[in-house]
Amino acid sequence: MLGVSLGNVSLLRLDRSGGLAPGNKSFKLHTYFAQAKQLGAARLVSFGGAWSNHLHALAALGHQHGIETVGIVRGEANESETAMLKDAVCWGMRLIRVSRNEYRRRHDPDYQQSLRDQFAPCLLIPEGGASVAGMQGCREIGEIVGRVAPQARRIIVPVGTGTTLAGLACSVDGDCELLGISALKGAADLERRVGELLRVAAPASVANWSVRHDFHCGGFARVNAELRDFILAFEAVQRVELEPVYTAKMLFAIHQLIAQGEWRPDTPVLAIHTGGLQGRRGYPWLARSSISAAVRSF
Ligand SMILES: *Cc1c(COP(=O)(O)O)cnc(C)c1O
Repeated sequence: MLGVSLGNVSLLRLDRSGGLAPGNKSFKLHTYFAQAKQLGAARLVSFGGAWSNHLHALAALGHQHGIETVGIVRGEANESETAMLKDAVCWGMRLIRVSRNEYRRRHDPDYQQSLRDQFAPCLLIPEGGASVAGMQGCREIGEIVGRVAPQARRIIVPVGTGTTLAGLACSVDGDCELLGISALKGAADLERRVGELLRVAAPASVANWSVRHDFHCGGFARVNAELRDFILAFEAVQRVELEPVYTAKMLFAIHQLIAQGEWRPDTPVLAIHTGGLQGRRGYPWLARSSISAAVRSF
């Protein structure tokens, strides 16, 4: 069996914070809810796939705040009856299923305006909460790091849109080394997008951040045999649940960087567990995990 020696790693368990919307998503969405209240918007509208953690969290928080939510879901109904969307509907989210072609227009200003008109008065949130507002909400994660792990100098976080990474980059100590592990294969403009968020926010200091693109294990939401073995071994030994899309790839990256000799095993690393455990239900081989049933409240 694969060893899971990870050197000197501490985990910041955001998966245990945030109530119905655990992990990084509640931080990212915080500012949007504040804006919606301020603007008197009756509902929040956003985009995602059938397994979107973003839509799941938006629905949960909408339910908590008493604000309506609308999810524009990629793909026709038969491919989008997932456990995630069932939760979202239970929390009152209205789902609008659109074809893949229509979904491709999500960044198009004309399309966005038509959605704003259709759901007025509403606030439209970009896919994944990827904007300066989302980034500002994530600064709170850096503030938590400063409180609970002020000595941390090497911090690692999984990356999708890079919004969380950008929020951390401007809220942890400026002399921290911050490494993002991309969950996507070949996200060529990721660094540019993170750089753009940081440029607009113009914070007082920015940590020394970078992204690794070589731990996607086959692509977004894909799992190869190595990653699968790693997850099962890690969970058995550490009794901490991961999910294959983001958090497992981050911990696997640490394991590999140490195994390949790029990182010394004794250097302290703070890894941010960004949650997403509700997505484990998309991986039948994980659903049987012994810890899973006991702690899931969904
Ligand atoms: C969305 C998500 C991420 C990625 O966050 P970004 O801000 O888009 O980079 C990381 N981990 C989990 C569990 C997520 O759900």
